Amino acid sequence: MSPIIRERLQAFPVALKKQGELNAVITDTSSQALEQLDASPDGPLSGLLLAIKDNLNLVDTPTTAASRTLEGYVSPYTATAVQRLLDAGAAIAAKTNLDEFAMGSSTEYSCFGPTRNPHDHERVPGGSSGGSAVVVATALVEAALGSDTGGSVRQPAAFCGIYGLKPTYGRVSRYGLIAFASSFDQIGVFARSTELTAKVFEVIAGHDPLDSTSADEPVVHFDYSEERARGLTIGIAPEYDHEGVEREIRERYHDLIHFLKGQGLTIKEISLPHTAHGIAAYYVLTTAEASSNLARYDGVRYGRRVHAPANLEALYTDSRSSGFGAEVQRRIMLGTYLLSAGYMDRYYIRAQRVRRLIQQDFITAFEEIDILVTPTTPTIPFPIGGKVNDPMTMYLSDVFTVPMSLAGIPALNIPAGTGANGLPIGLQLSANYFGEETIFQLSRFLEQNYST
Ligand code: GLN
Repeated sequence: MSPIIRERLQAFPVALKKQGELNAVITDTSSQALEQLDASPDGPLSGLLLAIKDNLNLVDTPTTAASRTLEGYVSPYTATAVQRLLDAGAAIAAKTNLDEFAMGSSTEYSCFGPTRNPHDHERVPGGSSGGSAVVVATALVEAALGSDTGGSVRQPAAFCGIYGLKPTYGRVSRYGLIAFASSFDQIGVFARSTELTAKVFEVIAGHDPLDSTSADEPVVHFDYSEERARGLTIGIAPEYDHEGVEREIRERYHDLIHFLKGQGLTIKEISLPHTAHGIAAYYVLTTAEASSNLARYDGVRYGRRVHAPANLEALYTDSRSSGFGAEVQRRIMLGTYLLSAGYMDRYYIRAQRVRRLIQQDFITAFEEIDILVTPTTPTIPFPIGGKVNDPMTMYLSDVFTVPMSLAGIPALNIPAGTGANGLPIGLQLSANYFGEETIFQLSRFLEQNYST
């Protein structure tokens, strides 16, 4: 075992303290990692310091999901993806801050307080995996895991200026990930290079008998080829390029397309006509799934339990009302309403149909193109406090990431320089199902050849 990793783990608490105000970490696990260092196997991630979002289980360690309801919970087991990191030789130094139960786009809805953007402390780092994005962006660790239900890896990666991958749905086992919306949730990777993003992805991906939705599809090893990258057909879509997108982001997007054209790649305009309905369908389906997934935190089976309630009903309502924050409560109520008798057809079933149409848009598009290039977000990182009291505006910040989540296709945020005020700009590369390797080809090509 490399002596450097021991030193870095020993120095970790001090390094963490130095960035205190950023509030990116919930639990420092470096001493636990230090104890296990001698038993750590040699593997593709040996010598690397990693962090995981605090909705992923690591045995004998608290999992909070940034919620009061899980106060005092210590996990009796380790998530499959996390176990695979450990088996590959990685040391896990920290569990990172997030929006409560991964519901949010700014990491402000955490019972531990907001995480701050390292490029401007008065702005949000994105969410919900904001803590993981920040520890990677500030080089406290090499890579981190997050979870992405509608953009929670890609959007914070864009706001912090790093790579952030949401794999194909089912690519990575969800066993040990706290469920938000099970037909969307996918564990993703943050890193500062394409190569390491791909490496961590290869370690965590692959079938797991403990998750029946995990795909039994071989994981292709990423082997960069400039020739293959130059042969790709790139799709652009007008639905992602309009007035509603901040000028600097659009300019960078056009600059990148111009560059690819100049390099001889084929650029094709395609259409994704149902894009505009993505946000509505996403917030119907995910709140419905959340209301059912979060029913288990009732103070009996799981979660905070109030002391001496007046009766059984008070046990449930008081426990849940004091355990969940406002945004989580809003989503549970919305989801429960949408699923109630008489409304199910009107909202839930209709949203499922829209989901299918969005999926079909992508399937048709990928008959003609290899990679779709879009902005990751319509805006640059917004000020802390700017959207917390306006859930609709907050929801709209996911407009470019939820369509891929509805379809279940893979997508990667790549850093594309900074704007005039020094804040990062991110662009998104999406591919057909199980096309992660193709995404990495283009990402690596840009990393080597494109400068902003
Ligand atoms: N921001 C989106 C939401 O609030 C996505 C969250 C996520 O991907 N976990 O639902």
